[in-house]
Amino acid sequence: MINCAGGNSLEIAKMLGLAGDYSSLHFRGEYWIAEKKHENLVNTNVYSVAKFTNFPFLDPHWIKRANGTTEIGPNAVPVANPETYSGYVGNISDAVSKIGQILSGSSKKLLVNPEFLSLISKEWKSSLSKNAMINRVKQFIPKVNPDFFVKRGTSGIRTPIISKKGEFVSEILELEGNNSFHILNYNSPGATGAPAYSALIVKKLQEKGFLNFQKTNQSFWNFDKIIDQINS
Ligand SMILES: Cc1cc2nc3c(=O)[nH]c(=O)nc-3n(C[C@H](O)[C@H](O)[C@H](O)COP(=O)(O)OP(=O)(O)OC[C@H]3O[C@@H](n4cnc5c(N)ncnc54)[C@H](O)[C@@H]3O)c2cc1C
Repeated sequence: MINCAGGNSLEIAKMLGLAGDYSSLHFRGEYWIAEKKHENLVNTNVYSVAKFTNFPFLDPHWIKRANGTTEIGPNAVPVANPETYSGYVGNISDAVSKIGQILSGSSKKLLVNPEFLSLISKEWKSSLSKNAMINRVKQFIPKVNPDFFVKRGTSGIRTPIISKKGEFVSEILELEGNNSFHILNYNSPGATGAPAYSALIVKKLQEKGFLNFQKTNQSFWNFDKIIDQINS
C-alpha cells in the first residue's frame, strides 16, 4: 500500500503502527478574488518574506492565476480536520477528538509558544475580517484596497506534522511498514514539486523491489539531466 493521502496520511500511518511520535495540525488557507477591474493592478505574483520563519506559512500573497484572475491569500487558520473547508469546528466529534490529540500529543507544546500564539491570533483575525487579510497585502502593495475584493476564493487545507519536541517538521517524512510505504508532511511547494517527487518515489520503490512488476530501473524523469541544467 502506498499512503499519499495528504491531510489524512498521518492517521493512516498510525493505523499501521507507524509515526507514533508525531502529531498534526490542520490549517485552512483562505483566498479573496479581485474584481475584474482591479485584477491587473499588478501583473505578476508577489510574495512577501515570511515573518515567522519557524512556521511553514508565508503571509498572504498577490496571485495571478493562469486564467487571468487575481487572488489574495492564503492565510493559515487552525481547523479541526482536513475537510473543514468552511466554518471553524467542522464535525463536532472530529473537533473534540482533535482537541484530545493536541492535549495529549506533541502539538500541546505549541500552545505555550508565544511566537506560535502570535501567528495564530493574526491568522484568525484575517479569517474573520476581510480588511485584516487585505491589509496584510497592502503592506507591500500600498494601492490594494479591501473594496476591490467582493468574493471569496476556494480554500485549501495544509496539514503540517509536529515532532515530539513540539516543532513543525520541515522535511517530507517517508516511512516504511510491512507491505506499506507512507508519505507524510508533503507540503508546499508540493504542487510544484509533484511531477519530480512522484517520479523519485516510483524510482525509490523500484530500487527497493517494492514495485517488482517493472524490470527496468529507468525513471520517466531524468534527474541527472535536470541537475546538470540547474548547475549550468
Ligand atoms: C492553501 C494552500 C496553498 C498552497 N500553495 C501552494 C503553492 O503555492 N505552491 C505549491 O507548490 N504547493 C502549494 N500547496 C501545497 C500543495 O497543494 C500540496 O503540497 C499538495 O497538494 C500535496 O499533494 P498530496 O498528493 O500529498 O496530497 P493531496 O493533494 O491532499 O491529495 C491527497 C489525496 O488523498 C485523498 N485521500 C485522503 N484520505 C484518503 C483515504 N483515507 N483514502 C483514500 N484517499 C484519501 C484525498 O481525497 C486527496 O485526493 C498549497 C496547499 C494549500 C492547502
